[in-house]
Amino acid sequence: MESHSVAMPIEESGEARKSIVLLVDDQPENIDIIRSALDEHFQILVATHGVKALQVVRRVVPDIILLDIMMPVMDGYETCQRMKEDPRTAMIPVIFLTAKTEFEDEARGLALGAIDYIRKPSSPQIILARVKNIEHLLLARRALELKNHALENARLKAEEALERLAENERDLHAAMLAAERANMAKSEFLAVMSHEIRTPLNGILGMAELLMDLEMSDEYRLYVETIRRSGENLLVIINDILDFSKIEAGRLELEEIPFSLWGLLDELQFIFGQVASSKELAIRVEHDGLLPRDLIGDPVRVRQILTNLLSNALKFTEFGGVSLQAEPLKVSADHARIAFVVRDTGIGISPENFDRLFDAFSQVDSSTTRKFGGTGLGLSITNRLVQMMDGEITVRSQLGSGSTFRVEIPFKMARSSLPEREGAAPGDGVPTEIPANASILLVEDDPINLAVIKGMLQPYRVRLEAAQNGRVALGKLAKSTFDLVLMDCLMPEMDGYAACREFRAMELTSRALRTPVIALTANAMQGDREKCLAAGMDDYLSKPFKRHALVEMIALWLSQAKCQTAVVTQPVAVEPTCAREPIDREKIQELQEDLGDDFFKVFRTFQTGLPDRSARLAAAIQANDANQVHMEVHSLKSLSAQFGLVVLRELVVALDNKARSGSLEGTAELAERVLEEIRTADMAISAYLVGRS
Ligand code: ADP
Repeated sequence: MESHSVAMPIEESGEARKSIVLLVDDQPENIDIIRSALDEHFQILVATHGVKALQVVRRVVPDIILLDIMMPVMDGYETCQRMKEDPRTAMIPVIFLTAKTEFEDEARGLALGAIDYIRKPSSPQIILARVKNIEHLLLARRALELKNHALENARLKAEEALERLAENERDLHAAMLAAERANMAKSEFLAVMSHEIRTPLNGILGMAELLMDLEMSDEYRLYVETIRRSGENLLVIINDILDFSKIEAGRLELEEIPFSLWGLLDELQFIFGQVASSKELAIRVEHDGLLPRDLIGDPVRVRQILTNLLSNALKFTEFGGVSLQAEPLKVSADHARIAFVVRDTGIGISPENFDRLFDAFSQVDSSTTRKFGGTGLGLSITNRLVQMMDGEITVRSQLGSGSTFRVEIPFKMARSSLPEREGAAPGDGVPTEIPANASILLVEDDPINLAVIKGMLQPYRVRLEAAQNGRVALGKLAKSTFDLVLMDCLMPEMDGYAACREFRAMELTSRALRTPVIALTANAMQGDREKCLAAGMDDYLSKPFKRHALVEMIALWLSQAKCQTAVVTQPVAVEPTCAREPIDREKIQELQEDLGDDFFKVFRTFQTGLPDRSARLAAAIQANDANQVHMEVHSLKSLSAQFGLVVLRELVVALDNKARSGSLEGTAELAERVLEEIRTADMAISAYLVGRS
C-alpha cells in the first residue's frame, strides 16, 4: 500500500494537518536521528521518559507514539501499559523503538498492545516507512470511522423519519377513526332522531285524522287537511332519512324470505295506477309468463326500490306515461336475475347530471326542488339498496324526452310461491266491524298516543282499558280476560317484548285461550318485526298509523280470535258461511272504478292463478306441512280481501291462524272448506266477469 494515497488528517477547521508523532526517548542522539527521519512528514513532540510522555498526552493527543523501553523514571513497558489503560489514549498506536532485541522483549511489548516493534539500530528510512505504514492504517481507520459516523447519522435520521412517518400514520388512523365514529354517531343520531320524531308525528297525524271526522266549516276542513297532508309529507321525508342513516350506520339488513314477484307487481300496478290516473297519465306494469312467479329476497326493499323509481317517473312526467317492465335475464333452478326497467316520457335528465344523480341530498336541478319537492335521498337509497342486493342500476335519459332507469337484481328461486308479507296496510279491504263490547287492553306509556288511540276507537263501542307499562299490563292480564291487547314496545319499567313473553307463559300455565297481542311500534328498524313475533306478538302496527289501519287490524284479529283454538289443540270451529255471497259486489265495483280498464286484466290474472294455488294448498295439507300451508294461504288472505271475496277471506284467515301455531290438527274440515271456497270463488268471478269485460 503506498503511503501517498492516504489522505492527511483533517483538522476541525477543515484543513489537512500533519500527523503528530510523540517520540519518547532519553537519548538526545536517538532523538535527533529519528526527528531528522520524520520531520518532513510529521509534527514531532518529544518526551525524555515515560512520566513526561504521560503528561504530554494529557495535553495533546498524538496520532502515533514511538516509545523507547529503557528509560529513567518510568520505562517504556509501564508507560505503554498506562496509556492502554486510559480510555483517552488506549487507541493511540504505539511503536516500540528499542535496543532490546530479545524475542521475549518484543513479545512483551506486543502483548502490552504495541502495534509494531523496531529494533535499534535501524535505518531512518525503515523507521519512516514503518511509521508511515502505521499512519496509513490509522488514516484508513479514521476514514472508515468517519464513514461509519456519517452512516450512523444517516441511519438515525432515517429512523427519526420513519418514527415521524409512523406517528403521522398513527395520527391519520386516529383521525380516520374519529371521523368514522363521528359519521357513525351522525347516522345513529339521525336514525334515533327520525325514529323519535315518528312518535309525536303519530300524535299530529292521529289527531288530524280524528278532527277530519268532526263537523266543521270548509275553511277549517282545509286547514286540518293541510295539517294532515304536511304531516304525511314529513313522514315520507323522515322515513327517507331513517333509511339513509340506517344504511350509513350499517344497520340496515336485508331479509331473505319467499315472496310473490307477480303479487308485488300487481300491487305496484294497483297503487301507481291511482296516482297515474290522478295526473291523467298512462301506466303499464308488464311481464310475461316467463317471469318467475316466486322468489326469495327482501320484498319490502324491492318494493321500495321500484316505488322510488315509479314515484320519480310519475313526479317528473306531465304528459304521456310511465311503464315498469320486469324481465327474467338468467334463470336457473336456484337463481334468477331479474331486470326491472322503469321508463317515463317526462322532463328527462341531462347526461352531465348522471354522476350526481345517485348522490345523497342531491337534486340535479335545484329548480326541480321548488317545483316538485323531494329530499334528493330517494335515488341514493335506491342505489345503495340495489348494491346491497349485489345488483346494478343504470340510467339513460334525454332532456325533454324522458328517462329509463334499469335495475338488475339477483334473487334465489323460491320452492313455494307465496309472499311472507301482505300489502301496505294491514288487511286492506277487510270488513272493519269491531264487535261491540270487545275488551281491549291498551298498553302505552305516551299520553298523546294513548289519547290518539282512544280517540280513534271512540266511535266503536269497545271496552278500552289502559296500562302505562308492561308490568301494570301483566297485573291486569292476570286478573281479567281481554279479547285483544295493543302493546307498545318501548316502555319504562317493563317493555312490550318482555311483557308479552311473560304473558304467553302465563297463558300456557293457565291453559287459557291465546289472546291476540298487536305490537304498536315506532321502530322501523330491521328485525323489529321478527323481534315482535319472537316475543309472542301476533302482528304489528308501525306508528304512525291511520285509524282504518288500527281498526282493520283489531277487526281482523278479533274475527280470528273467534276461530282461535286454545293453546292446547282442539278442533277448529268453522262458522257456517254457505248462505253468504262469495263476492262483496260493492267492494269489487269500487275496485273496478279505481282500476278502470286494468281491472279486468288484474282480476283475470288472479282468477287464472286460483287452480294452481288450490293445488299447491291441497298438496301442503296432504303433506300435513303447517308452515307450507301458512305460506300458501298467507297471500290469499290479502288478495281475497282485495277482491272482496269475503267468505274465502274469513276461511283462509282461520286456516292461516291455525297453521301459524305450527300444527294442522283438527283443521281437516276447515281446509276442505277453503279448497271448496276457492272453487266457488273461481266460478263467482267467472259469473261476475260475464257480460262486463
Ligand atoms: P327526490 O326525492 O328529490 O326526487 P331522488 O334522489 O329520487 O330525490 O332524485 C334526485 C333528482 O334526480 C331529482 O330531484 C330529479 O332532479 C332527478 N330525477 C330522478 N328521477 C327522475 C326522472 N324519472 N326524470 C327526471 N328527473 C329525475
